[in-house]
Amino acid sequence: MITHLINGQTAEGGSRCADVFNPATGAVSGQVRLADGATVEAAIAAAQAAFPAWRNTPPLKRARTMSRFKELLEAHADRICQLITDEHGKVLADSFGELQRGIENVEYASYAPELLKGEHSRNVGPGIDAWSEFQPLGVCAGITPFNFPAMVPLWMWPMAVACGNTFILKPSERDPSSTLYIAQLAQEAGLPAGVLNVVNGDKEAVDALLHDPRVQAVSFVGSTPIAEYVYATGCMNGKRVQALGGAKNHAVLMPDADLDMAVSALMGAAFGSCGERCMAVPLVVAVGDCTADALRDKLVAQIAGMKIGSGRTAGCDMGPLVTRAHFDKVRGYVERGVAEGAELIVDGRGLTVPDFENGYFLGPTLFDRVEPGMRIYEEEIFGPVLGIVRVESLAQAMSLIDAHEYGNGTCIFTRDGETARHFTDNIQVGMVGVNVSLPVPVAYHSFGGWKRSLFGDLHAYGPDAVRFYTRRKQITQRWPSSGVREGAVFAFPSSR
Ligand code: NAD
Repeated sequence: MITHLINGQTAEGGSRCADVFNPATGAVSGQVRLADGATVEAAIAAAQAAFPAWRNTPPLKRARTMSRFKELLEAHADRICQLITDEHGKVLADSFGELQRGIENVEYASYAPELLKGEHSRNVGPGIDAWSEFQPLGVCAGITPFNFPAMVPLWMWPMAVACGNTFILKPSERDPSSTLYIAQLAQEAGLPAGVLNVVNGDKEAVDALLHDPRVQAVSFVGSTPIAEYVYATGCMNGKRVQALGGAKNHAVLMPDADLDMAVSALMGAAFGSCGERCMAVPLVVAVGDCTADALRDKLVAQIAGMKIGSGRTAGCDMGPLVTRAHFDKVRGYVERGVAEGAELIVDGRGLTVPDFENGYFLGPTLFDRVEPGMRIYEEEIFGPVLGIVRVESLAQAMSLIDAHEYGNGTCIFTRDGETARHFTDNIQVGMVGVNVSLPVPVAYHSFGGWKRSLFGDLHAYGPDAVRFYTRRKQITQRWPSSGVREGAVFAFPSSR
């Protein structure tokens, strides 16, 4: 049974549980306990109790815990990545990529003492000094999706605790094992009991976190409808909230692009992790019919060379989808695309992987002539389905992107600097690549989309995380001085 981590101890809690599957075999690999309100309460109480001592621990000591934790993550990388692959399905190389990106966030959190330095102004008035400090908030919570069970939690809690907060993490119930294992490594690194707590669960656990007044801030990553719900409910309950949602990222292919470079980049972005990435590229907008025809031919050839199988099988490019329900949903979109009139060029349905006949495998699927208004254009599919959209100009491509409800990521393939600059300057999307199909910011920048891909002001990780997990306090100070004595002043203080 996969349980919880509360106050440094493995804890049961909640009478319900859910099956966890190995997506490559379709077999139940374990069960996860689903926390009830009382279990979440216990985690919040532990985090609240741990806060005063942790807040007052010197920042450098907190940071050293992160440095030790980073070493443990590196030492146990094989085990962590096997756990990711066995519950998520992604190929091992992709699990290592995810973990490495997570480790970089831990590394950045170990610089927190530098990042927490405030601002100081001496002598703002006679004998008066003023400064700002960035103080921790208290108990913070993180709610994370299935598709990055190691990386996305590491976007959140390492910086939160390095800033002096305590934390409750609610991972996805679909692949919780690597997340819990990583939290146990953090205890081993010396994080005091109660500073990081993990409650496994579903909506019941999330609602308990959103309604408890002791929780000061909530970071959420997941689908847009739930992000919107978490943002609205958390804000209504007086919390600081950042809620990152879904995506439908467009790549633009210009006629002057290096086509081979673009096709290789698009293959990885469309089919890597079976398309289950919020920065995946499920739509490529080709400018001009000649560009679209050439793109289509090259994609078909590359798709034919892809190896699909269990994430544990060496040399595979793509594994299965995460659950049977998600497999059915993605398959349904392929059927819907055909019914809507898009041209199905490569059909991934009907794929069987020898020895893994019950796995949730869907082959790479390619549509041409996808158009706005079709559900396969408008909605996030989150599977290995790539659509080619044909337009005649860059302006048309850009207005399609700007009109879309999501604004997470986008990229353009071109050799022309002016085109690239016009695109990056004007496109209404939060993360933009030029000849880079997955423009995921590095750990010392921040990650976030625009429009309905993010609710809140501050982006995830990087410098924005320091601001999200702290609040500014401004202090103005004067000490009694033997030389200066003045009577009461009734005018508003100024340096006039
Ligand atoms: P999800 O929204 O189903 O679940 C996310 C979290 O919310 C999980 O912990 C889940 O237990 C919880 N949850 C689910 N239903 C809930 C409800 N009704 N009330 C309260 N909590 C609930 O998302 P998912 O399927 O796990 O992940 C895939 C989604 O996440 C995709 O939409 C993807 O684009 C998005 N995503 C976004 C980013 C980003 O940075 N913008 C990153 C990764 C994933």
